[in-house]
Amino acid sequence: MTQQDIRPPASAPLALAEQAAERRPLISYVLPVYNEQDGIAAFHQELTAAFDGRADLDFEMVYVNDGSADGSLAILKDLAERDDRVRIVDFARNFGHQIAITAGLDVARGDAVIVMDTDLQDPPRVSLELVDAWREGAEIVHARRRSRQDTFFKRTTAHLYYRVLRSSTEVDIPLDTGDFRLLDRRVADELGKYREKSRFVRGIVASMGYRQTEVSFDRDERFAGETKYPLRKMAKLAIDGVTSFSTVPLKMITRLGFLVLALSLAGIVYALAMKFFRPEITVSGWTMLMVVVLFLGGVQMLSLGVIGTYVGRIYSETQGRPLYLVREVIGGSKADD
Ligand code: UDP
Ligand code: MG
Repeated sequence: MTQQDIRPPASAPLALAEQAAERRPLISYVLPVYNEQDGIAAFHQELTAAFDGRADLDFEMVYVNDGSADGSLAILKDLAERDDRVRIVDFARNFGHQIAITAGLDVARGDAVIVMDTDLQDPPRVSLELVDAWREGAEIVHARRRSRQDTFFKRTTAHLYYRVLRSSTEVDIPLDTGDFRLLDRRVADELGKYREKSRFVRGIVASMGYRQTEVSFDRDERFAGETKYPLRKMAKLAIDGVTSFSTVPLKMITRLGFLVLALSLAGIVYALAMKFFRPEITVSGWTMLMVVVLFLGGVQMLSLGVIGTYVGRIYSETQGRPLYLVREVIGGSKADD
């Protein structure tokens, strides 16, 4: 099964809009799961407890099992059996958090779609505050972290990163927001048209426009297990964020080129002056030679790396491979009729 097969037919949103007048709005949750066996049941319980009091709304939950290697899928299947508001999209392998979110958005049918983590770091009760902001007219509601409980390293790097990202791109990416947000059906449909591979969903959403607002919250600690974002994945996401929205790194190469040119002009003048006025010491220039060769080598490698990153993106986009592969979609009998 490929991504095309599981996306609802194009007419579905229209039909939903027509019915919306007579029925309660449906809120979909898109919930990426990767090796969360120790916390997922508690998460599900807290989520359902949070919205059970809301008789004015209907809910569905789309869990995307992103190739978990632990018992997460079995627990999810159990949840789906007992609750027909639960659907599971089971990936053929681990495709990564951003792709898992994308698949969930492709499948979700709600009038509004909420994306949130399944480790209880994004508190379920806050998601209902997002719904309230949506009902007041917002089309995109970002949940902004007023405070967070992560490690010092993660907090400082994230803090710095969001500021660098904002200053290097023309997109007004809201500060300190992850992927916890609500999207109106119209926005979710439009977002579905963005099929780029190395994706930075929060940046794409911010770039889309519409009526955007934010709700602040205090981010909790992870309920169970370890972060599924080791440094390597964090670095990839960070690079995807910058390269998706900015060519500033390429422009920096040009600037660096000018700087090195200016330095080398000074070097040339110095070398010639030494040759003509102090010929007795020109042979002892080994240190200078090494410094110059290594410096230029480093600058060139760095520049090639930056260009290579962009070329790599072009390469993977032109391959046109599907974003994800699904083993099966499980559950959700109620939402099908
Ligand atoms: N996740 C995923 N695929 C991955 C890595 C993470 O679906 O390859 C999910 C994970 O289960 C969680 C969310 O993405 O629901 C955020 O991951 P995590 O909490 O580990 O990131 P952190 O909060 O530490 O940045
Ligand atoms: Mg987390």
